[in-house]
Amino acid sequence: MILVKVGGAKNLNWNEIGTDLKTLSEKEQIILVHGASKIRDDIAVQMGAPTQTVVSPSGVSSVFTDQTAMDIFLMSYPGLVNKTIVAKLQQLGINAIGLSGVDGRIWEGVRKDKILIKENGKIFAKTGNMTGRVEKINTKLILDLLGSGYLPVITPPAISYEGEIINVDNDLAIAVMGRELKIEKLVVLFEAPGLLEKFGDESSLIKEIPKDKIDDFLKFGEGRMKKKIIGAKEALNNGVSEVIFGDSRVNNPIQNALNYAGTVIR
Ligand code: ADP
Repeated sequence: MILVKVGGAKNLNWNEIGTDLKTLSEKEQIILVHGASKIRDDIAVQMGAPTQTVVSPSGVSSVFTDQTAMDIFLMSYPGLVNKTIVAKLQQLGINAIGLSGVDGRIWEGVRKDKILIKENGKIFAKTGNMTGRVEKINTKLILDLLGSGYLPVITPPAISYEGEIINVDNDLAIAVMGRELKIEKLVVLFEAPGLLEKFGDESSLIKEIPKDKIDDFLKFGEGRMKKKIIGAKEALNNGVSEVIFGDSRVNNPIQNALNYAGTVIR
């Protein structure tokens, strides 16, 4: 089983991604997980409530999700973006079914109402955050869908044990899916050839990262890239055999990644 995760860029080439998904899904079970961050940010600006980001004491940035941000999140991730992707894949002859982590408790976990943030050199607690962390996967539902010939297209948010909607990190959620579904390979696509030693310099691609050295590579990731590296480490600790970071912009992006054109971590 292969899980393909596509980032939240605005201009993804769904013809290429979809064509690859169609070829691969004829011989393998495939799950697609996607983000929608850029479109969410655009809608947030249009609605006069721009996305707020906060930085943890260790320097990792994340989105602060209050009720307004969650409403916009629901419009963009499981709404506009998920349904657009599903329709596109259906046009290509893939029997895609789009679900958020809330549906059937596909992604379940703890809510973190209070988070520690660092602002102007000071560390303090901020409450009212509708985010959390996925711990549990409804594997039966996913396996039932795969067994019935559907290609699941999954996106945040998730649901807390108490039934609240929570914003979660995709890159960490897929690591939990890796464990619970015994996934062999994770393909993580974004708008770069893979992890670059110098962000912006596409000739500085890191071809291979041994899993016991992964912490040494965290320093190369800027912004959300750090989370992808942390997610890859968790996935490998959870029993996934390979995580491949690949370029979403090229022709045959998934097959290219599976042929190790990007960064392979194992
Ligand atoms: P998401 O999947 O959460 O939507 P993005 O696609 O924005 O996240 O995150 C990946 C982005 O991180 C890449 O497209 C790239 O612009 C950026 N990035 C930061 N540091 C690096 C790096 N060292 N190598 C490659 N990309 C990097």
